[in-house]
Amino acid sequence: MQALYWNGRDLRLDFSYRVPTADRQTTVVKIHLAGICATDLQIFNGYMGFEGVPGHEFVGSVSEGPKQTMDR
Ligand SMILES: [Zn+2]
Repeated sequence: MQALYWNGRDLRLDFSYRVPTADRQTTVVKIHLAGICATDLQIFNGYMGFEGVPGHEFVGSVSEGPKQTMDR
């Protein structure tokens, strides 16, 4: 899959980024819309030493994940 990846120096388009998979604690979300916020821009200036796929503001739908129940 494709992903924008920040390696701490450059933002690059990775055409072979691993496809995420769900497990007991991870849900895969198909992203419909994504935004870039001020925190992302700060990351590109070294904030928190982040490396990875930027972006934490999005709209999507769950495509795979652990089964949830509403039982209490
Ligand atoms: Zn934000």
